[in-house]
Amino acid sequence: MTNRIYNFSAGPAVMPMPVLEQVQRDLIELPGVGMSVMEISHRSGPFEAIIGAAEADIRTLAGVPDNYKILFLQGGATLQFSMVPMNLLTEGRTADYIMTGTWADKALKEAKRVGTTHETGSTADTNFNRIPRDDELAFTPGAAYVHMTSNNTIEGTEWHRVPQVPDDVPLVSDASSDIFSGPIDISKYGLIYAGAQKNLGPSGVTLVIIREDLLARSSKSLHTMLNYTIHAENGSLYNTPPAFGVYTLGLVIKWLLANGGLAGIQAVNQRKAGKLYAELDRTGFWTPTADKASRSLMNVTFRLATEDLEKAFIKEATAANFDGLKGHRAVGGMRASIYNAFPEHGIDELVAFMREFEAKRG
Ligand SMILES: *Cc1c(COP(=O)(O)O)cnc(C)c1O
Repeated sequence: MTNRIYNFSAGPAVMPMPVLEQVQRDLIELPGVGMSVMEISHRSGPFEAIIGAAEADIRTLAGVPDNYKILFLQGGATLQFSMVPMNLLTEGRTADYIMTGTWADKALKEAKRVGTTHETGSTADTNFNRIPRDDELAFTPGAAYVHMTSNNTIEGTEWHRVPQVPDDVPLVSDASSDIFSGPIDISKYGLIYAGAQKNLGPSGVTLVIIREDLLARSSKSLHTMLNYTIHAENGSLYNTPPAFGVYTLGLVIKWLLANGGLAGIQAVNQRKAGKLYAELDRTGFWTPTADKASRSLMNVTFRLATEDLEKAFIKEATAANFDGLKGHRAVGGMRASIYNAFPEHGIDELVAFMREFEAKRG
């Protein structure tokens, strides 16, 4: 057996065990290929089959309509902070950014380098502890796009609705930390992007799902590697793709398909997060930081009465093999990241450990 510990890291994060086991089995030689995925040409039949299956399985899993392209890029979600405005923020238009936390702010900073931006719906006054209501959102008529962050990894909040943007304005979503954690209506978005290392696989590959008509906005003067149209025309094979990442991401998608798809994983995620929030709400010893209606199913953020108590909890939890519970350095406290692959029994064990801690210190 293994000595794997419970990994609550926000990213890179826990991977599904069956995926790790298959990667291990296939590592020396892919069945029928005689080499590993890291050693074959990205122009070879076997790799074309791998990237083709990953795309087809994503289409099946998320019901991606035919008029959307699926791209496997590099540079993380952070490069998308730049690529989105470079490709979509055309001359004379404004890009609207919904300000829900640290990552939204980083995305906005890059857009400002490209063109005119407008910030709306900021919940900064309450430390981004909630998602803005519809009546707090004011969009620019004829905006180039509206940018949202579907799950705020650091602050522990998540959109549980799709914001109502004007009909002709595409919605762009940074879904890095909650993509495929439940059913998603792709047709409501113009573009969705996600770094893989939270819910999709290893770091090094970034998934982009883009509505085809938006490709027409990419200017020919853009640098080749920063141009969505080039990547779309070349099936994500303009240059050498992150082959190992694409292969492993494909296995994660197959794992989701084999386990009830997005509705199936959503039920598990609701149960897992439900158990943890129930414990946080039980006595008042813990203080969950996100507003109830905005709580994330992926990143559960909470505090204790003093920083000393928090330090003691994190230290004792780490010693008991609950790793990665320290909150982001920008906000402090604790954060349990419980992405798709985080096992439910790990939640049960953490809850039991929290009860013991409370009995000792409460
Ligand atoms: C982690 C994260 C990012 C940054 O991702 P990289 O792949 O490291 O660039 C951006 N946005 C959100 C919401 C994230 O959780």
